This record gives sequence, structure tokens and C-alpha cells, in this order.
Amino acid sequence: MKRNILIHPDPRLKKVCAPVSDLSDELRALADDMLETMYDAPGIGLAAPQVGVLDRLIVLDCVKEEGESPRPLVMFNPEIIAASDETSVYEEGCLSIPEQFAEITRPAEVEVEWMDRNGHARREVFTGLWATCVQHEIDHLNGKLFIDYLKPLKRQMITRKMQKLKRERARA
Ligand SMILES: [Zn+2]
Repeated sequence: MKRNILIHPDPRLKKVCAPVSDLSDELRALADDMLETMYDAPGIGLAAPQVGVLDRLIVLDCVKEEGESPRPLVMFNPEIIAASDETSVYEEGCLSIPEQFAEITRPAEVEVEWMDRNGHARREVFTGLWATCVQHEIDHLNGKLFIDYLKPLKRQMITRKMQKLKRERARA
């Protein structure tokens, strides 16, 4: 089932999310819904707070080439355990901040630990777009958006555009 994606500014996007202790069918269904919502948008990552659930859960799939098989990843309690000194710059966007993009500098490589949908502990090193995406999504679990890396003036400009967009959508 597709879920409604919250648009910035929304207090739920600024909250630190709670760790997941027990995997339930409900949480697995939420992960499936989030993947469906992400693919439909379309996007390459989605965090639970973006659909109004304040649990530490993200989904991502950065396979973009036509014909390549998808690689949906579901991560409960994802944690960055190591990050490279080397950085990379990507133009980031966010499903909660539609149509707005900005170049963000982040570590080029990160090692992430998480629990998969079967409750198994997993660990993997991510590079390239995957590294940027997983950091962007984990930021969401800590109430942080990519625009928080921008200078205040630019961030305020984007926030005002989003407030206007929300007003327009509410009227429609
Ligand atoms: Zn985002």
C-alpha cells in the first residue's frame, strides 16, 4: 500500500526516531509500503519519518540503469560505523522537498551496520551514490534534512517555497 509522503516543513521530519527492538509483521508491512511508495515516487531512498512513522527504518535502491535488476534494501536501526576522509559531492534531492536540489559534500565511503527484514545483522561498505543515499536516509532518522547542510539563506528560501507548495496543495 502506498503511503502519503510528508512535505517539509513538518515537525515529524525534525524528530530523532526510536530504535526498533522487535521486528513485527506490522514493521515488515511498513517496509514493503515504503519500498512501494519510493519506487512509485520515483525515488532512490525513503525513511520512515517521511511517511509519519518515527521508527529507525529506511529503504533504498540506487540501481538506476535500465535493465539492471533492482536491489531493494530494508534497514532497521542502520548505523554508520566508519566513514572515509575522502569526500564526494552529489546533487541531492528529497521526496519531502520536491523539485529542490543542491550539491552536498559527504564522506565518499561509509560502512553501515543494520538489521535486515529477517532480523539478521548485516554490515556492508557503500560507495558512490549508495554511500550518499544511505547517509541522507540515516540523517532523516536523526531529524536532519539535506537542506540543513546549506547556508541559512538558501535553506529559508527552499522552506518558503515548500510552505507555498503545501498551501497550494491544501487548496487543490
Ligand atoms: Zn530525503
